[in-house]
Amino acid sequence: MNEEVRKRIRDSVKRLWANKEYKEKQEKAHKGKTGDKASNWQGGLTESKWNKRKGTSRKDWNKKISKALTGKKRSEESIDKQKSHKRSQESIDKQRKSVIGKYRGENNHRWIKDRTKLKKSDKKHLCNQYKEWMLSVKNRDNWECKINDNNCNGKLEAHHILRWSEFPELRYNINNGISLCHFHHPRKIKDEKKLSQFFTKLIKTKV
Ligand SMILES: [Zn+2]
Repeated sequence: MNEEVRKRIRDSVKRLWANKEYKEKQEKAHKGKTGDKASNWQGGLTESKWNKRKGTSRKDWNKKISKALTGKKRSEESIDKQKSHKRSQESIDKQRKSVIGKYRGENNHRWIKDRTKLKKSDKKHLCNQYKEWMLSVKNRDNWECKINDNNCNGKLEAHHILRWSEFPELRYNINNGISLCHFHHPRKIKDEKKLSQFFTKLIKTKV
């Protein structure tokens, strides 16, 4: 992970916590899970369960393992044995052949037999009218993300302010489109709805 990504994550977490509603939700969820309970949660087992299961406490168990591992050296023989254990080309080819094509077409779990059942939205990017709409939105916005800040990242996308599926009459209306970079493109329906008013304002203000 590079520094930039890390910073972006940190910023977005900070922003989340600045939201009062979110903070209250988190605090509620963690209520009572403090101290011992919280630290045990990481290990998955409480101390007493651990004792029952292994017949030994976790501390003793860890000691045993570290004792068993210290100073132990693998013999040359064992190392050579592992090194020489290579799969033959034949066996690799055999496995490869058995997998090729196995999950294609009808054998794929995502295969849809009746092509008419494909959602209309799956096909929208193939339609010429859609391409035209997308181009005119991007042209109007000078091929720049309308949020245009330091976080901007990724490919420029034309976003439907009011949803494609819910507002068919606005699908090719340029005033229902906004250019956003991949980073600023809302990923959840909930976010889309929250931001729609804000986006409408944005496209009305000229840069
Ligand atoms: Zn952006």
